[in-house]
Amino acid sequence: MANSAPVSTDVGHMYDVMTELFTALLDGNIHVGYWSDDEDQASVAEAATRLTDMVVGRVGAGPGSQVLDVGCGAGTASLRLATTQDGTVVTGISVSHGQIDTARARARELGVAHRVHFRYADAMNMPFGPGMFDAAFAIESLIHMPDQDRALQEIATVLRPGARLVIADIVDRHPASGAEKEIIDNFCAVTQCRTIAALPDKLNRAGFEIVEFDDISTHVMRAFAALSDRMREVRADFVGRIAPAHFDQLVELFRRFSAVTAAGYVLAVAQRR
Ligand code: SAH
Repeated sequence: MANSAPVSTDVGHMYDVMTELFTALLDGNIHVGYWSDDEDQASVAEAATRLTDMVVGRVGAGPGSQVLDVGCGAGTASLRLATTQDGTVVTGISVSHGQIDTARARARELGVAHRVHFRYADAMNMPFGPGMFDAAFAIESLIHMPDQDRALQEIATVLRPGARLVIADIVDRHPASGAEKEIIDNFCAVTQCRTIAALPDKLNRAGFEIVEFDDISTHVMRAFAALSDRMREVRADFVGRIAPAHFDQLVELFRRFSAVTAAGYVLAVAQRR
């Protein structure tokens, strides 16, 4: 709400270019997938939809609830929530103009544009009034924010007391060193992110109680290798729009990041005090 917050214009530009690729391979999503165990044969697209449902199912929204999707991508989770929980009113925000256009078009196609709204906005500088929302969720968006504390404080401000926040994101599990540190640093540089350190402390400081905090790394990290494989298969279709060197760098980095253990993945539910 103050105007001195850092901005995320570059992240937005990156997603203007990359969204079509990721959503084509991940059934409209831009996040990892969830597999029950090593035997689970689900495709990365099916597994990504599962993770969407795990998040959406934890939001606890009902008819008339106002829900905020922080970093909405192409709008898939917002639309999933609105179409599975009748009467829910969802607002998705993103710093990619391209994503907002795509998400709005999809809401119109699905006939839910009257209660699913998409808007260009920076989560570190929210354009919403205090206590406006009954719930919020953030899937792999906090990781892109230069000031994660500030984003969480902004989310806390726009939520009413008692409201839920569901987060699915990449966190530090233990200090990285050597080859792992190099992989994580490269991954973060190329995808413009920073793995989230001490998320429970950040949530506490922002005014949240932790309700659930699950390290689901063993169920999701294979998504990066699976995505890398799929990217290689569709390379010819996308290297016109995405610079070939950048595309190949991502293929390699995702494959390597998949095996990292110092970084992992958390599904967290918190409640605004
Ligand atoms: N949650 C979606 C998209 C994840 S990709 C999904 O799971 O499919 C990361 C998203 O975070 C993008 O939509 C990007 O625009 C958004 N994002 C990154 N930084 C942001 C910021 N400061 N404010 C709002 N959205 C942001």
